Amino acid sequence: MTTDPNTSPFPKGEKITNGYFTGNAFLTPLLARDKNNDFVLVNVTFEAGARTNWHTHPKGQVLLVTEGVGFYQEKGKPAQRIKTGDVVNIPELVEHWHGASATHKLVHIAITNYQGDNNVVWLSPVSDEEYTEVNKH
Ligand code: MN
Repeated sequence: MTTDPNTSPFPKGEKITNGYFTGNAFLTPLLARDKNNDFVLVNVTFEAGARTNWHTHPKGQVLLVTEGVGFYQEKGKPAQRIKTGDVVNIPELVEHWHGASATHKLVHIAITNYQGDNNVVWLSPVSDEEYTEVNKH
């Protein structure tokens, strides 16, 4: 909800326009990959209703939820409701999505590891039908 106070410690950043998100999502880069850290660190804000496409990470990903309520779902499994303070450890090559609930924003830090020069493989959008079903529970 755009009227919510921003309680996240990091800036909301710029709107994501890469075509792999549904709804309004924003990204702030926090730390680039460097010679010691083989990952990228970003802060992502999903407004209510916003979510990633289905996707995989070749070396996994960790999410730290800093604000709000949303979902994490692995393909073929029930969605998990996630909220402020939750840590999600996403295994390599597992198809999944993450994002806000239909009624609340979600803010998370994402730590995404690299394999070579790749850290994500984007797949199809989470359909409105899939998203509506998840929000019933
Ligand atoms: Mn992910």
